[in-house]
Amino acid sequence: MKEAQGGGALPGSSLQRACRLLVVFCALHLSATLLYYLAGGGDLRPPRNPEPPPRSPRPANSSRATPGPPPPDCPDPSPLRVGALNVEFSQPVNLEEAERINPKVREGGRYAPEDCKALQKVAIIIPFRNRDEHLKYWLYYLHPILQRQQLDYGVYVINQGGEETFNRAKLLNIGFKEALKEYDYGCFVFSDVDLIPMDDRNIYKCYSQPRHLSVSMDKFGFRLPYNQYFGGVSALSKEQLVKINGFPNNYWGWGGEDDDIYNRLFFKGMRISRPDAVIGKCRMIRHSRDRNNEPNPQRFDRIAHTRETMNSDGLNTLSYKVVKTEKYPLYTKITVDVGSPKN
Ligand code: BGC
Repeated sequence: MKEAQGGGALPGSSLQRACRLLVVFCALHLSATLLYYLAGGGDLRPPRNPEPPPRSPRPANSSRATPGPPPPDCPDPSPLRVGALNVEFSQPVNLEEAERINPKVREGGRYAPEDCKALQKVAIIIPFRNRDEHLKYWLYYLHPILQRQQLDYGVYVINQGGEETFNRAKLLNIGFKEALKEYDYGCFVFSDVDLIPMDDRNIYKCYSQPRHLSVSMDKFGFRLPYNQYFGGVSALSKEQLVKINGFPNNYWGWGGEDDDIYNRLFFKGMRISRPDAVIGKCRMIRHSRDRNNEPNPQRFDRIAHTRETMNSDGLNTLSYKVVKTEKYPLYTKITVDVGSPKN
């Protein structure tokens, strides 16, 4: 019989050979796999919790977290501002409450926005003595405002120790020096403890010219008492402050030192920048005159001679002793010995 010839079919012997080859191949593959596992190259057990990924070695001086891209600059002006604020002093303020509502403020009264880079690093300097009730109001109202203004800021209360006559301007000089020891501040806001802004569009930052912020005080019927008035709250950049040799150290008692500061700025060719009378509104906490802060009878004579005295009285002649530095949740309190008018 003639062998059937099929177009594509394998002849019988070839089929058997192919099957044998396949069996040999499968046997070889199986033995190779078995050998691999027996030699420990594989693990047939169910997987355990995943191990943490291996750590790549870190150079000795690198920081812990891998630095991401730097945050963008905060928008100018901050979109978080709300405008006019209700400020009143009929109820006493509880400091724990002020701390509770400002959880992002770090010890010593420091804050910086998390999601963007603040446009300025601002030290707020408060000359102080025996005004704890006022300070509570200040902290309660100002911290939320300063955070909405997206500033990188710190609050420094410069407390005059002892019983000597109060010296506001010297305390401001000290605040400038002490704050700079702690951080690279570029702007300094000098604020009386009893002044609260009524509008958060009044930004506590520095401008190309020295800034007067408390331009529209309730005490003065919401207007400037006179054009050259520079008291209450003001902001100067580090450069502006250095240019005028800081503030006078020899105004003991109430009055005149702010006029001297105005003169210094004027004589160095600077002019005052101000917000308008609506944005610049602020309230003063009423109080009786402080002990050891009587009006300074020498102030008129001193103001008349600023031009001659400013280069030999200021930051370059400042001397004081730090008695104590205390870090509280919402502020840093630095108690200082400012000496006396006699020395
Ligand atoms: C004083 C200033 C004071 C102003 C407003 C002036 O006579 O010299 O120090 O800020 O009055 O009270």
